[in-house]
Amino acid sequence: MAKRDSQAAARASRAVQPADAALRQLVTRLGLRQPHELLFHLPLRYEDHTRLTALDALRAGAPTLIEGEILQVQAAPGRRPGLWLRLGDGRGVIDVRFFRVVPAQRKTWQVGARLRCHGVVRAGVYGFEMTHPSCRLVQSGQPLPERALAIYPTVAGVSQDRLRRAVADLLARLPAMGLGETLPAARRHALGLMALEEALQVLHAPLPQQIESVQAAGHPARRRLAWEELLADQLVLRRRRYRARSQVAPALVDADGIGDRVEAALGFALTAAQRRVLEEVRTDLARPIPMLRLVQGDVGSGKTAVAALAAAMALGGGWQVALMAPTELLAEQHVKNFHRWFAPVGIEPLALLGRLGAPARRAVAAMLATDQPALVVGTHALFQDWLRFGRLGLVMVDEQHRFGVQQRLALQEKGSGLAPHQLVLTATPIPRTLAMGLFADLDVSVIDALPPGRAGVRTVVLPARRRDEVAERVRAACRMGAQVYWVCPLIEDSEQAQGEAAEALFARLGEAFPDLRLGLVHGRLGSAQRAAAMTAFVQGALDVLVATTVIEVGVDVPKATVMVVENAERFGLAQLHQLRGRVGRGTAPGSCVLLYEGPLSPTARARLETLREVQDGFEIARRDLELRGAGEWLGTRQTGERRWRVADPVADADLMAEAQIEADRLLAEDPALAERLIDRWQQEADRYAGA
Ligand code: ADP
Ligand code: MG
Repeated sequence: MAKRDSQAAARASRAVQPADAALRQLVTRLGLRQPHELLFHLPLRYEDHTRLTALDALRAGAPTLIEGEILQVQAAPGRRPGLWLRLGDGRGVIDVRFFRVVPAQRKTWQVGARLRCHGVVRAGVYGFEMTHPSCRLVQSGQPLPERALAIYPTVAGVSQDRLRRAVADLLARLPAMGLGETLPAARRHALGLMALEEALQVLHAPLPQQIESVQAAGHPARRRLAWEELLADQLVLRRRRYRARSQVAPALVDADGIGDRVEAALGFALTAAQRRVLEEVRTDLARPIPMLRLVQGDVGSGKTAVAALAAAMALGGGWQVALMAPTELLAEQHVKNFHRWFAPVGIEPLALLGRLGAPARRAVAAMLATDQPALVVGTHALFQDWLRFGRLGLVMVDEQHRFGVQQRLALQEKGSGLAPHQLVLTATPIPRTLAMGLFADLDVSVIDALPPGRAGVRTVVLPARRRDEVAERVRAACRMGAQVYWVCPLIEDSEQAQGEAAEALFARLGEAFPDLRLGLVHGRLGSAQRAAAMTAFVQGALDVLVATTVIEVGVDVPKATVMVVENAERFGLAQLHQLRGRVGRGTAPGSCVLLYEGPLSPTARARLETLREVQDGFEIARRDLELRGAGEWLGTRQTGERRWRVADPVADADLMAEAQIEADRLLAEDPALAERLIDRWQQEADRYAGA
């Protein structure tokens, strides 16, 4: 990442002259690199400061701009030093309340001064009032702005005013800055897009009548930027692919015939879909170019077996294999399966888990540092700097959506000498055309069928007040030998609160089920404790496992047939589908009870209905995209990596397809422009990849 900046800085100083230290500081504070990136730092929303409403024409509930003379100033009662002002404009009065004011405001907001305030009007006991509006001192008759006021995402220490001034300044200098139009007019018209400068003007400073339309996906200004962003994204992916492909990988051929022996140990026959994907992998591995392959397959489609056999091919060629899993639970499960499957060929999988003590980790590291074939399964522990592989031939990542791009790339760099092949597994079943756009740096294989004999999962949606009935049915099912997952409500962003919710549910179910054996897993428990509960559940020593979403990814307990999800309305569709995928994995039919707390929003209702009606992950993904955009499927929630600032893969799907074609054309015909576009839009992750 270090070397990235010299070129970029040179370009930036050409773009904005003279270099302005204050502007640079502002840019840095916002986490941007170059001043012109401010232009692509788009407003969150807008306020209309173009029209004043007279104080006798106020309506409660509406965001309104008012102006008046301060008639009265009063210190607000209470602990904090607030302020109440009464404003009048000769036609009416309004009370403006502040809970907090800074000394400068206290000093200048005196009787007789004029204030212009923007805020929501409310009907108070003594007439209309406004609480904490945005305010400025004005002279009588001071003109109003002609354009809407942008409200930007910002950080502490950068005021909206400062940001607005900087952006306005850049917009004014835009023609001289050489940002440049990148689309010939004819092409622009064909795609129905706005010119770049016009689009930036509209997005940063719309006319009041544009405020509403400009915020919706599909506005020509937005589409214009979306187009560029998608194009830049495609360019980055193609460049990444090109760079990876120009490296040399070991040609892996299973000379020892390990694959066949491991396959015989699986205990089941591969499905045709698994076999087809494996053939694709085999072909890739045999070539001296790094494989970059994504395997998509719905939950339960048997991706682990495909990973095992891919590993076998590499091991059979004498190379090392690393498999990265997003949770310890899942990593342990893989180790256990691989232990069984690889026993006939005498290969013992190594585990590299966070909870291993330093000596154990050092022992694993020492083995990996040699050039002996080895199979290691691990979590994030695999990223640690000190870990080096002597002969890394294949890197696999399970549940790809849980990781960021950087992590995959970091793992790939752990080899010495030749570049390893990469296989990425995901249960994120996005439609194929979208996948080709999103993962243009990868080849995509799809396991499009489930193993035979799956009885499926029956899903019911019930209000939480019927929990007691559910509990009775759970008890009956357990008496018949069923095992049950009971999933806690989702509490975003606080693992502590999540842990507490899990403990509380565990206690409550403990009282409800004195006769059943209960276990608990959540992220705050030590991993040994977690592993113990999980093992007990796998071995059938527990009837009910109270769990958080730590079981969302990949956990496979064929005997568990019932799942109850609390507050199902809080989960995303994809996540519920993943959760539900934990049951009905054996030959016994599964059942899934989604409990919800009403009232449900229309979207939440649609989500739960979809789950009840549909089992196919691809169909669920399609509906989810309709309901909500692609956020969750693209892993933004899990990795915190936001892929796009403007583009919306659903609303702008047509642009995505065009961008793929345009990217190929640009790389062939105008690489300098391609470079400029990448530079304009590139984000941290891609810069890393490009470095
Ligand atoms: P996922 O694709 O969700 O990772 P898994 O690899 O965990 O799915 O497989 C789900 C279950 O199906 C496992 O118990 C696995 O052993 C079993 N399985 C995988 N492939 C087959 C097959 N071809 N026939 C029967 N069972 C299979
Ligand atoms: Mg899996």
